[in-house]
Amino acid sequence: MQHQKKLLLGAHMSIEGGLHKAIERGIETGCTTLQIFTKSNRQWHAKAISLEEIEKFKQAVTASSINPIVAHASYLINLASPEEATRKKSIIALKKELEVCSQLNIPYLVLHPGSHVNQTTKEGVALISQGLDQALQESPGTTIIALETMAGQGSSVGSTFEELAEIYQLSEHKKRLGVCLDTCHIFSAGYDFTEKKVYEAMWSEFDKTIGLERLKVIHVNDSKKELGSRVDRHETITKGKIGAEAFALLFNDARFFDVPKILETPKVTLAEDIYNMEIIKGLLTKETKELLKVKSEKAA
Ligand SMILES: [Zn+2]
Ligand SMILES: [Zn+2]
Repeated sequence: MQHQKKLLLGAHMSIEGGLHKAIERGIETGCTTLQIFTKSNRQWHAKAISLEEIEKFKQAVTASSINPIVAHASYLINLASPEEATRKKSIIALKKELEVCSQLNIPYLVLHPGSHVNQTTKEGVALISQGLDQALQESPGTTIIALETMAGQGSSVGSTFEELAEIYQLSEHKKRLGVCLDTCHIFSAGYDFTEKKVYEAMWSEFDKTIGLERLKVIHVNDSKKELGSRVDRHETITKGKIGAEAFALLFNDARFFDVPKILETPKVTLAEDIYNMEIIKGLLTKETKELLKVKSEKAA
């Protein structure tokens, strides 16, 4: 996408005060990519975004060097719900999210696949695939839905690479489907990548089941909980159970230089985002820094 290699790193940014405010926050913290909710993530209905707000946002993006922008879909959407009414509502909401992404020129929409509640995983997988197809069928545009890897809490679908691969395989809109890998979630789900050997094994498994080319976004989070805990609690980079080596391996891995990497680490102000990004820059080798033209004091 970008012609010049750069460190593609940013954070989830609030849209309080308007969508364009997220871009201002991104500039302030030194993001080269970032993620937003295009509306409140816990509400079904949001007022339509005005043309003026769309223009303001697009102008802010163009004037910045932040690219790409990633959107995260509402937590309420559940394409795997056993309730038909909830599934219908979810498809309508997903179509709306896709429409907004199109208006805002956002290339990736991250989505939690869904929770099957009391059905089998297989039934959940089938419903998700059908729901995605219906939403994509009825939503012209180029935005890719990036299905997020889940920690495995409750009845959530997508805590194994196989489940995500099955959703993809059943879909008739494969070109508009990808994956968002969340480091905290896969660790909680039981994938170890904290040392070189297991790191390589994890990625070769990802490649075999899903395919590296389908990886569109990485959520960069350390984990408060242990490997396989199935509990989703994000932690500051290198301060959790995943630790520094895993993030050093990830950020020096040339296969992922072009994949937007987004922090969703705990924060009260923007200072924590800056802090996390500095930690990550401190993990980069001299070679990576030269390649990505990163200016930072410390070298790993
Ligand atoms: Zn998410
Ligand atoms: Zn999470």
